[in-house]
Amino acid sequence: MNKIDEIKNYAQENHVPIMLDGGIEFLCEYIKKENTKRILECGTAIGYSSIKMAKCNDDILIDTCEINPKLVELARQNIETEGLTNRITVHQIDAVLFETTEKYDLIFVDAAKAQYKKYMEHFLGNVSQDGVFVFDNLCFHGIVDNPELTKSRNTKQLVKKIKVFRDFICTDPKFETLYYPEVGDGVAIVKVK
Ligand code: SAH
Ligand code: MG
Repeated sequence: MNKIDEIKNYAQENHVPIMLDGGIEFLCEYIKKENTKRILECGTAIGYSSIKMAKCNDDILIDTCEINPKLVELARQNIETEGLTNRITVHQIDAVLFETTEKYDLIFVDAAKAQYKKYMEHFLGNVSQDGVFVFDNLCFHGIVDNPELTKSRNTKQLVKKIKVFRDFICTDPKFETLYYPEVGDGVAIVKVK
């Protein structure tokens, strides 16, 4: 098995919620098509999506934030094994506390689903001209559109928040949003006008 498949297997066996195949393929196509160079990711987990994105092009540079120290450790190991240490920097930090003057072509938001608006506001000044935000899990396993699929009060609260955020990016005239409910777990590309 190749290394990236081992990382994917590890994630599946240990319930690490990495991007679905459809989502990551779509994101990688976008990165290649747009010739994206500088990427910021919120929510590294074990480095799967970072590694996949870095492999789209040899000159892509990624900063990625992860709050959980154990996952940071695993991500760094995986990135090292893939020989990508010089192109992917893992920051052990809550993404809303990550301060940088860097401008990114793509800011991929995949950390705490209830905090998407906070991450977006925090990084508004870090999007390059023509840069975009990409958000994952806007369907949250279909529960956002069918809340009766869950009995959990916490999950009901969470999907309500996701719905409010999704409606916000899809309707506010400040944004040019392409929302793809059928891609992976629901992905949106948002350009701030
Ligand atoms: N992007 C990864 C999956 C990320 S899962 C992939 O597709 O491979 C979401 C991750 O966000 C979890 O590892 C979780 O620990 C992390 N996270 C949650 N809240 C966070 C925050 N405030 N800042 C940074 N990371 C956070
Ligand atoms: Mg995700």
